[in-house]
Amino acid sequence: MKSIQKPIVIVGAGFAGMTAALNLKKLNPALPILVVDSASNFIFKPLMYEVLSKEIRTWEATPKFANIFSDVGVTFLKNSLTTISFKDNFLEFSDELKVNYQYLVICTGSMPNSFSTKGVDEYCYFFNDLNDLNKLESFLEKLQKTSLQKKIFIVGGGPSGVELACKIKDIFVDQFEINVIEKSNEILYRNKIFNREEAERALEKRKIKVLLNSKVEEVSESEIIISGEDGVTSFAKDIVIWTAGVKPNLHYLKSDEITKKYGRILVNNKLQIENYRNCFAIGDISIIAGMEDLPITAQVAMQEGNHLAKNIELIIQGKNPLPFDYQDNGEMISLGIGEASISALGITLSGKFAFEARRLIYASKLPDINESLKSVSSWIFQKKSIFKKFLKKDNSN
Ligand SMILES: Cc1cc2nc3c(=O)[nH]c(=O)nc-3n(C[C@H](O)[C@H](O)[C@H](O)COP(=O)(O)OP(=O)(O)OC[C@H]3O[C@@H](n4cnc5c(N)ncnc54)[C@H](O)[C@@H]3O)c2cc1C
Repeated sequence: MKSIQKPIVIVGAGFAGMTAALNLKKLNPALPILVVDSASNFIFKPLMYEVLSKEIRTWEATPKFANIFSDVGVTFLKNSLTTISFKDNFLEFSDELKVNYQYLVICTGSMPNSFSTKGVDEYCYFFNDLNDLNKLESFLEKLQKTSLQKKIFIVGGGPSGVELACKIKDIFVDQFEINVIEKSNEILYRNKIFNREEAERALEKRKIKVLLNSKVEEVSESEIIISGEDGVTSFAKDIVIWTAGVKPNLHYLKSDEITKKYGRILVNNKLQIENYRNCFAIGDISIIAGMEDLPITAQVAMQEGNHLAKNIELIIQGKNPLPFDYQDNGEMISLGIGEASISALGITLSGKFAFEARRLIYASKLPDINESLKSVSSWIFQKKSIFKKFLKKDNSN
């Protein structure tokens, strides 16, 4: 088995980076792999709603990188990437540390996109990471203490907006009037029909108002201004939660350094950055030439991480890397406390059974880190026998 002199550096240890690192180490244990992340903990983002509702404790959904990687002999460094010198193969980090690499994998994920809408950055809450979750949770708890019913606007009728709306309604019952604002003519317009219909039912059951064909024009300290079929209307608000879109987290890239498409790094179908073929970009920050329609999801990020591990090993062994092929394994959404909807591989499920299955499936999709993630899935694994039919582990995630 061949090895290399300088390390493979993976920056960003979310779904894409972690999958790549752990699979690569498994394929070739002799490889020097350095994983760098600006955070100390992995965030299991699809389970953030359950953290908010306290169905899962924070520490269970956010295991420490140090524990995950030390178990398998991968070096982990907490640091924030500030500059890449593609020509000279080195990276600079926030404390001026410089690191040379033989192969580079960047996968620094997404951040909320306000689309330059006035007042969003100043006055909206977000739900993209643990910091957002903590801020939102403490604000909602503060609001809850006052007697009047409060008005929440959730901007974005995609999975995040819908899941959050149902969960908040179930946590706080009638303390909030919840409005979901969606600019297209239906919620979950990119999702499976079964899940969309289940979500519509879940919103209706909870008396959550949905304003379709509506666009947020501005948010101020006390109001939200929305344009829709009836013109422009200003509503008093207590809180606006912005889930209307994400953009790639690429602040360390110089503007014209590499080719981008729709703001994301363009890679070839081997996941390489075309002009620097020892460099790869995967997960939310990248877009594959010819596969521009892939969704921005953990499922894609993990499949790319898994495929990239195989490709890097092929390259090290002097062989040609293989084109990436995406397998749509379906989708799952949570719909309030104890409820979910699943449309996957010909199976559709909703309600309480789907809720349990969803969490179990997430845990089973992380086969190589089950040991380190015992925390995240401890209670789920106790129920493993009930869900055997969902547990067909495969490497395609
Ligand atoms: C609330 C929520 C729910 C979701 N639910 C689902 C779902 O049900 N199903 C699904 O498929 N997808 C879901 N997604 C989307 C999914 O989480 C993302 O698509 C996935 O996390 C992308 O993986 P990634 O590895 O590209 O980025 P991430 O998982 O976001 O990881 C990026 C990592 O890079 C690190 N980083 C960022 N900048 C730097 C830097 N400069 N230096 C070093 N490290 C850096 C971050 O700390 C982070 O650890 C959800 C997202 C959210 C926010």
